[in-house]
Amino acid sequence: MSQPLLLQRSFFQSGATLPYQKRIDALNRLHHAIRQHEPQLLQALQSDLGKSATEAYMCEVGLALSDISYVRRHLKRWMKPHYRRTPLANFPAHSQIISNPYGVVLIMAPWNYPFLLTISPLVGALAAGNCCVLKPSELSPATATVLTTLIAETFPPEYVSVVNGGIEESQALLELDFDYIFYTGGVQVGKIVMEKASKHLTPVTLELGGKSPAIVTADANLRLSARRIVFGKYLNAGQTCVAPDYVLCQKEVHQEFLQMLKEEIRNLYGEHPLDNPDYGKIINRRHFDRLCRLINSAKVVVGGESQPEALRIAPTVLDNVSADDPIMQEEIFGPLLPILVVNNTNEAFRFVQSRPHPLALYLFTQNSKVERKFMTELQFGGGCVNDTISHLAAHNLPFGGVGNSGMGAYHGKNSFLTFTHQKAIVKRGLWLDPALRYLPYTPTKNQLIKKFLQ
Ligand code: NAD
Repeated sequence: MSQPLLLQRSFFQSGATLPYQKRIDALNRLHHAIRQHEPQLLQALQSDLGKSATEAYMCEVGLALSDISYVRRHLKRWMKPHYRRTPLANFPAHSQIISNPYGVVLIMAPWNYPFLLTISPLVGALAAGNCCVLKPSELSPATATVLTTLIAETFPPEYVSVVNGGIEESQALLELDFDYIFYTGGVQVGKIVMEKASKHLTPVTLELGGKSPAIVTADANLRLSARRIVFGKYLNAGQTCVAPDYVLCQKEVHQEFLQMLKEEIRNLYGEHPLDNPDYGKIINRRHFDRLCRLINSAKVVVGGESQPEALRIAPTVLDNVSADDPIMQEEIFGPLLPILVVNNTNEAFRFVQSRPHPLALYLFTQNSKVERKFMTELQFGGGCVNDTISHLAAHNLPFGGVGNSGMGAYHGKNSFLTFTHQKAIVKRGLWLDPALRYLPYTPTKNQLIKKFLQ
């Protein structure tokens, strides 16, 4: 298992990944390879998750391509050393920050966006000049197979390689002393990753999940709120880390909002969503059974039907759910949307505040005071006002969690920074060497030092 790491460490130490042109070549090759393998990728995503070709391109293949294009446009500027002002005490000198890659990084990906969440961190790692070992999820095997071929055809193993396998292989990789670990997945495994990384003091990014709320206030545009929540919730059959997990709806608009949710589910997925070829499936039987157990039929107001043989569950809404219901005790990660009624926005605020920090928060309101309070005072990874999910597709915004939903962030320049050590360098001039800091110390030096440092 240590073979890929040793190979890559020696390749990295040869300096082969460092020049700007080498990094651009790597990104160009990756872009080209993704284009070449597009039909196989779309087919694999259909096979693993029932994704339609449009959804698979929009949410995985296309986003990965546009990630690469964005990084290629900006990389030259990001790589340049940044000069900073030098404090008087260091005069004469130049101060600068040099962006250095960490070395050999491990990227562990989950099954729900199995292509994007492997390639997107890889783009940042290559742009920053690293070598990379990829560990795709074993639960999305068709995509893992195409990824393995794509990477093997595009990069020598000493630059980028793929390790396939399950928990045993993941744990064996985590025993090794990588220079950086980038993990996307659930909270429990995130804790294992961090514990293992601590043995070698390996820095980590943890892109985790959690229960992300959508809050609908009394003055919200209910039609758009319903449509955008339906889009964010049922995309990939609810298996999206930033999907709205549950809705906190203000009681004055509860019935009207519910009606609009029903209409928008019909508008987007038709009368019989289970027959809609554009609607996804649950990843495996274990998750299907787990989700079915969370459906309390007494509370179902939309959907509830399923096709066990096809692993499909209709877009489902459960109404009048309480915080004690089983569905509120874990991240749902499926097409079930519980609605909890709140009396006012303060109650919604306290509800979110009293729970672990979510990865995303979506606020539907037209009240700027409420918006300011929720956006500035609550802790969560990121989110939207009057939309769901779209913050994830913005290259200029960092994407990541806080507290229970993770640590670190990537996308755009943040991907480059994540895989880069910012090295501080002071270059002293030789023409002057003030005696101030040198012994012997005198009362005058003491006075001057106190003047400088206050
Ligand atoms: P998963 O089970 O595929 O696991 C992810 C990776 O961890 C895989 O490579 C797997 O081999 C490895 N792994 C699994 N169990 C392990 C163990 N015991 N020890 C070591 N390695 C192990 O994916 P998952 O965890 O089911 O993914 C779903 C979760 O990921 C959800 O909670 C979701 O919210 C979160 N997620 C977060 C983001 C984000 O960007 N923040 C994106 C997607 C998914």
